[in-house]
Amino acid sequence: MTPPTRGTTIIQAAAFPVDAGYAYAHPLDIVDLWRLPDPQAWLAEHGGEVEVLVSSSFFGATRELLDAMPALRLIANFGVGLDRYDLADVAARGVQLTATANALTEDVADLAFALLLAGVRRICDGDAFVRAGRWADGRYPLVRSVSASRLGIFGFGRIGRAIARRAEAFGMPVAYASRSPARPSVLYPRLEDLAALAAWSDVLMICAPATAETEGIVDARVLDALGPEGLLVNIARGSLVDEDALIAALSEGRLGGAALDVFRDEPDPDPRLLGVPNLVMVPHVGSATIESRRAMADHVYDNVRAYLRGEPLRDAV
Ligand code: NAP
Repeated sequence: MTPPTRGTTIIQAAAFPVDAGYAYAHPLDIVDLWRLPDPQAWLAEHGGEVEVLVSSSFFGATRELLDAMPALRLIANFGVGLDRYDLADVAARGVQLTATANALTEDVADLAFALLLAGVRRICDGDAFVRAGRWADGRYPLVRSVSASRLGIFGFGRIGRAIARRAEAFGMPVAYASRSPARPSVLYPRLEDLAALAAWSDVLMICAPATAETEGIVDARVLDALGPEGLLVNIARGSLVDEDALIAALSEGRLGGAALDVFRDEPDPDPRLLGVPNLVMVPHVGSATIESRRAMADHVYDNVRAYLRGEPLRDAV
C-alpha cells in the first residue's frame, strides 16, 4: 500500500474493534485522541492543526469537538450509520464526510436473517428448553414456517435489498416501504406506509436510518398492525422503535415476538427488556465479523488517503 504524499494530523476519536495497525506504518501524523489523558487540553493546544478526523458510527462528532478543530476538512467514519453527526452542521463547516458503504452490507443482512430465523423458529427458547431439562416432560410447541411467512422490509436500501435476496432463497414473499417511489427494476410490491406494511407482514424488518422522521416510527399502532402472530426484527437503530410500546405489546401478547440487534440505550438497554417474553437480543453485532471490520478499516484508510492525495473520495456521503 503506497503511503499518502502529505502529512497531516489525524485524530482517531474511536477505538477500532479490529486492529487497523497497518495505517500506523505510514508517515501520517496521527493522534489517538481517545488514548490521551486529557483530550480537551490537547485540543485546546493543537485542535487548529487537525485536518482529518477518523471517528465511528458509535461516537460520531459533537459540535464541541468540531468547534475545537476549525481547520477540519474530512471526517472518515467507520460505519454507515450517521445519526451521531449533525449532517447539516458538518456540511455548513465545509467538512466532507465519508462512510463505509458496502463494506458491511452482507454481514448485517446475514445477522438480520439469523434474527428472523431465531424469532420465527423460536431457537433461543428451544435452547433454553433443552438446557432446562424440559424435553422429556413434553413436546416443544409448533411454530410458524419461515417459507410461509411474509417479509415486510422498511427501508429498502443496501441492507434491505440484501435481506430481500436472502428471503427469496427461503421462498418468502417480500414487500417493502420507502420514501422514494417504486422503481420498475424492483419487482416486490411497494406498500404505502409502515402501518400498511406491518399489517401485510408476518415479519417486519426495520432497515431505515435513524433520522428525525423515523424517530419512534415503530409505535403501538404499527406493532398492533403486525399483531400477535407477527415478529419485529430491528437491525437499524434503536431510536426507530418506541421501546415502551414494544415492551407493552410483548408483555400483553399483542405482538408475537421481536428480535433486536439495536437498542435505544446502548450498551445498557432498558432492563425491562430482560423480562419480556419472546424476545431475542444481541449486542449490536450486525457488522461484527472479522471480514466486515477489516473491510471497514480499509474503506476508512482509502478515504483518508484519497483526501490527502487530492483524489476522489471512495465513499463520499
Ligand atoms: P441505505 O442504503 O442508505 O438504505 C437506507 C434506506 O432507508 C434508503 O434506501 C432509504 O430509501 C430508506 N429510508 C430513509 N428514510 C426513510 C423513511 N423515513 N421511511 C422509509 N424509508 C426510508 O443504508 P443501509 O446501508 O441499508 O443501512 C441502513 C441503516 O442500517 C443505517 O442507517 C444504519 O443505521 C443501520 N445499520 C445497522 C448496522 C448494525 O450493525 N446493526 C450496521 C450497518 C447499518 P428512500 O430514500 O427511498 O426512502
